[in-house]
Amino acid sequence: MSESESREWLGELDHPEYRLALAQFERAAARLRLDPNLAERLKSPQRTMTVSIPIRRDDGRVEIFRGYRVQHDSALGPFKGGIRYHPSVTLGETAALALRMTLKCSLTGLPFGGAKGGVRCDPKALSRNELQRLTRRYTAEIFPVIGPDLDIPAPDLGTNEQIMAWIMDTYSQQVGYAVPGIVTGKPISIGGSLGRQEATGRGLFVTILETMRHLNLPVSGSTAIIQGFGNVGQHAARMLSAHGIQVIGISDSKGAIYDTRGLDLTRLLAYKEKTRSVAGFPGADAVSSEELLERPCTVLIPAALAGAIHIKNAGRLQCRILAEGANGPTDLDADVLLNDRGIFVIPDILANAGGVIVSYFEWVQDLQNYFWKEKEIQDRLTEVITQAFHRVLDRSLSEKVDMRLAAMMAGIERVASAHLVRGLYP
Ligand code: GLU
Repeated sequence: MSESESREWLGELDHPEYRLALAQFERAAARLRLDPNLAERLKSPQRTMTVSIPIRRDDGRVEIFRGYRVQHDSALGPFKGGIRYHPSVTLGETAALALRMTLKCSLTGLPFGGAKGGVRCDPKALSRNELQRLTRRYTAEIFPVIGPDLDIPAPDLGTNEQIMAWIMDTYSQQVGYAVPGIVTGKPISIGGSLGRQEATGRGLFVTILETMRHLNLPVSGSTAIIQGFGNVGQHAARMLSAHGIQVIGISDSKGAIYDTRGLDLTRLLAYKEKTRSVAGFPGADAVSSEELLERPCTVLIPAALAGAIHIKNAGRLQCRILAEGANGPTDLDADVLLNDRGIFVIPDILANAGGVIVSYFEWVQDLQNYFWKEKEIQDRLTEVITQAFHRVLDRSLSEKVDMRLAAMMAGIERVASAHLVRGLYP
């Protein structure tokens, strides 16, 4: 591909998140002296699919939504990655997330390539029936490119177990028999795995504890602030607080709360269940979501959307550790500043890999029709993510590079060696 062709192709995918993912990739590829042909191949996805999803709204109107599935790379195994329902979903954003999935699976040693899907919609504005129709039609549209040996979707922002169940059912109806291995993050009753729901939160928790050990930070007196109180934020909060790390601040899309005495999570969960938000939680101070990020704490966890940490607030963060629950929450300039300031960053492809690790366990259990105990799943997750953490940390120390660069390098290396040994077809 000539340079101008390559630019044009990347132009189709152009998006701030894709540019960020590419810049992070290029930095690591340069440091690795990666073969330029291979770098070029890994910079653009193997396959992208854009679909129109017409659904009947409850009021009888037909509305068309836009959906995507981007399959970034399959050198290491079937494509794997979540499906996002959010108004900001675009082809470029999906491609960026698919690239991150390739590196995440590679880094953690899973036999998967990377993919991501999404539908541009506001799931909160759709009824349960509309969501079901949207999910089934989306699944039917991407049916030719998914399969238990081909591409295995999972939940992401705005999707959940129920949506995975509809995907599993739609796929199974098309082929005529139950195919639990088509999707992970399903309900237990149809082949889901114990421990999958909490898995991303648990992975975050484990990497935070390993970091605190490495930095010699005592648990007693340590605090956490979490941006985002969805699946990832809720489970991480619960585990951190059970371990004695006080959760002093939480925000969601509607507001933020702060209490230096530590938030009562049981009461907060009940409150959020009732009001749909943490905002206005009695007894805690109301602060703005931006302000919350800048309050002093031991661990700051962005677990919402990309772009949370940028040049304007990176200099003002008062945390010791930044644990990236979200994908791509920190931009390039902010990264440099955080490094200069000695803030330890646990990068996204490592910090939030717990979800896809247990997805892998779920897929293996489905293929074998043999289901593991919860304790086995928790122990194996801890083992896999702890090993990945130490591989990255050792590399970061020995090569004197930051944790993000070390993680990207490890991720690129494994997938690159698979490409080299497989060779170029035909
Ligand atoms: N959406 C999650 C992620 O970004 C999980 C993907 C999966 O389990 O396949 O890692």
